[in-house]
Amino acid sequence: MTDQWRLLDVQAVDTRLDQIAHRRRTLPQIAELAALEGRATQLRDQVVGAQTLAGDLQRELTKAEADVELVRQRAARDQARLEAGQGGHKELESLQHEIATLQRRQSDLEDAELEVMERLETATAELERLSTEQASLQAQVDDVTAARRTQEEELDAERERLVQQRAGMVAGLDAPLLALYEKVREATGVGAAMLRSRRCEGCRLELNPQDIQRIRAAAPDEVVRCEECRRILVRTGESGL
Ligand SMILES: [Zn+2]
Repeated sequence: MTDQWRLLDVQAVDTRLDQIAHRRRTLPQIAELAALEGRATQLRDQVVGAQTLAGDLQRELTKAEADVELVRQRAARDQARLEAGQGGHKELESLQHEIATLQRRQSDLEDAELEVMERLETATAELERLSTEQASLQAQVDDVTAARRTQEEELDAERERLVQQRAGMVAGLDAPLLALYEKVREATGVGAAMLRSRRCEGCRLELNPQDIQRIRAAAPDEVVRCEECRRILVRTGESGL
């Protein structure tokens, strides 16, 4: 009988251990970290995209600068020849014409260069923005990870205390009774339940008069079980027998 009462204490510890295990699996930080990791993956892709774009634009800018320089040098050469005044009238006229064409061309190329520079500035700013977001995201990940670790450590410490406490509780307990308890607990999650006011505390069902009669007739050390949920029913002064 005393062993059966002690079984209720063991059950209380096991219930708390189950709660701890469940809590550890479902810590809110686990979902938070998954969401942050999802955003981090997305950000890494965005950074690669932005870096590629900035690299392409940088090459485009270098080429645009070279184009402008080429035209500028040629115009300068023509200008020098024109100023030297060598060659015939027709030749000089042709030079003047070419210089005008080169100036228009240079102006167009400079406009194109400016446009690439602006796009590169935008791409660089976007890259900086993404990099700032990455840093702030990492700080969040660090915070949530630390919070999760704190929670886990608290739960692990409590579990450790309970496991030790439980070992002391089951030591000396009737072995077949404990084995039955473990078997039922494995099958239903709860091995032993108190019979309180004619109700099984395991399945919450009220026992019928025949079962009450049977339990009343059972010897105190006999192990009785709920007909509904098969849990070990522990009788106490509150059982209403
Ligand atoms: Zn029951």
